[in-house]
Amino acid sequence: MVLTENEPPPPPSEVVARRGRRASRWLQKRAQRRLTESISSRLCWLPIGLEVPVDVGRGLSAHVTGIRRCGSPWACPVCAPVVRERRALEIDRGLSAHLAGGGGAVFVTLTLRHHRGDELGPRLALVSEALHECLKGAAWKRRAARLEYVGAIRATEVTWSEANGWHPHVHAVLLLDRPIGDAQADDLRAWLLGRWGGVCERRGFGTLSAAHGVDVQVVRSAPELAGYLTKVDGGWGAGHELARGDVKAGRVHGLVPAQLLGEFMETGEVRFKLLWQEYERATFGKRAIVWSAGLRRRLLGDEVEESDEALASAEGMEPEFVRFLVEKDHLWAAAKAGTVGDLLSQIENAAEDYWSGVDHAEVQEAEGFEAEGRPDSGEPERAAAVRGVGRGRSPWPVGSRATRVDAPCLSDLPGGAVALVRWPEGFGGRRE
Ligand SMILES: [Zn+2]
Repeated sequence: MVLTENEPPPPPSEVVARRGRRASRWLQKRAQRRLTESISSRLCWLPIGLEVPVDVGRGLSAHVTGIRRCGSPWACPVCAPVVRERRALEIDRGLSAHLAGGGGAVFVTLTLRHHRGDELGPRLALVSEALHECLKGAAWKRRAARLEYVGAIRATEVTWSEANGWHPHVHAVLLLDRPIGDAQADDLRAWLLGRWGGVCERRGFGTLSAAHGVDVQVVRSAPELAGYLTKVDGGWGAGHELARGDVKAGRVHGLVPAQLLGEFMETGEVRFKLLWQEYERATFGKRAIVWSAGLRRRLLGDEVEESDEALASAEGMEPEFVRFLVEKDHLWAAAKAGTVGDLLSQIENAAEDYWSGVDHAEVQEAEGFEAEGRPDSGEPERAAAVRGVGRGRSPWPVGSRATRVDAPCLSDLPGGAVALVRWPEGFGGRRE
């Protein structure tokens, strides 16, 4: 996990936008939880202990631990965006380093003919193997040597349209030791069209469209594809083009799967429910983004490859944070109701009060209060924020160093569901 400096406080407009996206992801999760046949997806965000730690750094984005997560990059409206965003950043980092070192890259898309009513499963299976099937054998070896081919990162993607049904396809960045020109890219495209066309025909999936079957674009810089494709959330590089298939809404080939879920939520039409379930079954257990062997280490060195589950839990993680505890029943009820966004926003608001308090050097006041065991008369607000100090009970690793306090700023939450934890040396915790 790359964890560097504390985040600067975000501008209010960004906080509002981020919370809006989170709230809608949670509403989608409520719907998906009812439709899914996957146990891990149904139990995503189920608390493990009696209390769930929610840590908030100065970036004011809640980081939640002590819960189960499905980590699905395909089907989970809550996990997928986080996992994919992290994967996109990894790809951009690796690709930027490669290009900065004088390397070259091409962005390849392989698709197959598709018709309304086609089953997704067999086509997705074929597309997942597409790159592997094309880039093998003696003919490829000769070509790979000429191109000074290094390796590839591929991402499998699924869209759906009313007119043409399921459209699974694969995007890949092929990395080369040296840049190539447009003429060589065209030559590669023609060759791949023959290869991929042969695979499709042999496997009984018909002939390829000469116009759409294969696309090859020269990548000159990692963010270059930004000009070629729509920008999302303040930037769209090659990494995003590969990894964020979940949000490239309706640009080229119809709806992304999350929109099918959205259609079902909006219209209640059974066919959208069935399409979503077919999508979940077809993608279950499949890898969404794959680096060819050895490439990751070559581009990113010793940076450990985290699992999807681990990446899903990275949201909002900062080295310094203030910790809140949410009772497990309260969190799970919110997860099932799709209202986790509201809960986290309230906690983040309290954290914001807290961080501004720290900035005003009122920690001293609080320390004095703790020693006396009752509110100090001097600074009502900050003293009140640490009312009711009680040592002891600490189920998380930093436990013995932590102090449990009530947080009056959270008193509007039902049933005292949230408490605040404070470390003796200051308000924030520190992640090693
Ligand atoms: Zn999940």
